Amino acid sequence: MEKIVSLCKRRGFIFPGSEIYGGLAGTYDYGPLGVELRHNIKQHFWNEFIAKRDDVHGMSAAILMPARVWEASGHFESFTDPMVECEVCHERVRADQSESIADHEAIHKGKKVIWSTPMPFNLLVETKLGASEKTATTAYLRGEITQGVHVNFKNILDSMHPKLPFGIGQIGKAFRNEIAPRDFIFRLREFEQMELQYYIQPNETEGNTQFEYWKQFAFEWYQSLGFKKENLRLRQHADDERAHYAKDAWDIEYNTPFGGWKEAWGIHHRGDWDLRRHQEYSGVSMEYADPETGQKVLPWDIECSGGVDRAILFVLLEAYREDEMGGEARAYLALAPRIAPIKAAIFPLLKNKPELVAKAREIYTELKKTIPQIAWDDNGNIGKRYRRQDEIGTPFCITIDFDTLGENPDLAGTVTLRHRDNGEQERLTVEEVKNHLISTIK
Ligand code: ATP
Repeated sequence: MEKIVSLCKRRGFIFPGSEIYGGLAGTYDYGPLGVELRHNIKQHFWNEFIAKRDDVHGMSAAILMPARVWEASGHFESFTDPMVECEVCHERVRADQSESIADHEAIHKGKKVIWSTPMPFNLLVETKLGASEKTATTAYLRGEITQGVHVNFKNILDSMHPKLPFGIGQIGKAFRNEIAPRDFIFRLREFEQMELQYYIQPNETEGNTQFEYWKQFAFEWYQSLGFKKENLRLRQHADDERAHYAKDAWDIEYNTPFGGWKEAWGIHHRGDWDLRRHQEYSGVSMEYADPETGQKVLPWDIECSGGVDRAILFVLLEAYREDEMGGEARAYLALAPRIAPIKAAIFPLLKNKPELVAKAREIYTELKKTIPQIAWDDNGNIGKRYRRQDEIGTPFCITIDFDTLGENPDLAGTVTLRHRDNGEQERLTVEEVKNHLISTIK
């Protein structure tokens, strides 16, 4: 984990939030490479869960929502973690995390720590809206992006006229006043979620079939981020673990180096909990009328919900490798090409040969038109450039040399394509390289 945190900072993936002011716990900022990785993961989600499907629409709801939404969704009552307070220094920690308790007790170096009885702590982040103290209203930064979809259920029905079963997908920020943000970007106070709410006919058979389908769909999608099968698992929640709304719930978990299996993604059978509550609290009917029979039902919802930041962390942990190449130790990220921040780096063999640089620039400009995430590097020797690209997970390096210019006429117009994981090189035309890149980053 320390190696990933340091690589992320050194190479421009992820920085501690507001670092020059001492940081803000539970927040991190994404640098140039991190933001590309993040974008690629979100895009992959959007394509597979939304854009490629005829039965799912996308949307984007506001982050700020009034208190009434959270009353309806049950978050005021149940969106809590148990908290205990240390009676020596009054710091508060999660009562259900033995690691947090032990870490805290260690600070007091053997002195007996007395803990308060556990009390529920609400995780919603509150803010005030309005110009004057008197008229300001309390609003909440959404604690999950889910409710933004449910409160728009009617709008989607009336504007898009979807037929059951259908889904609404969304990606966006969520905020939780986590008592103990920790483990780099695993538990944050500001994070991003990617979710699908899939509305179905309200009956047990349909519920079980759809739940099974989405469980497998989400599991396969998560694997496609580049995980080894044995490092991911599906686990059913025990009865006392399930959220207030859930009829059934499973997590996709990743085997982390900081405490073993941890939640990456949740698949929840929410029944009609959300639509029923919003119908009751808003007074607006959430019923779906069958276009043929006119029969009205309150649909059930199967939810797939994953954290973007957690996906980034787990992808980085999974991809980090150390080996030896050409007699030298190297560290590299074996990122799947579709999510790698940079797809290929282009080098002129020598920086001080204008004809090589001009040709390399020409190929760089040409390839960048089709694949924007291409980088230029002419710093240091080729070996150093490879190491730099390997460390940030660039799957391919393309070198332009004198043969490209026609020194060996048989090789004129060809370049060297080098593969990150095994260091193998092949000679291809620029057109072949382009096609290879397009097919591997899909
Ligand atoms: P946990 O048990 O880890 O607190 P949760 O069960 O509360 O998570 P959900 O409410 O199901 O999580 O949220 C869906 C997803 O959002 C999680 O699977 C996780 O990937 C992500 N997520 C939740 N809380 C955080 C957080 N504090 N920081 C980063 N990601 C989070």
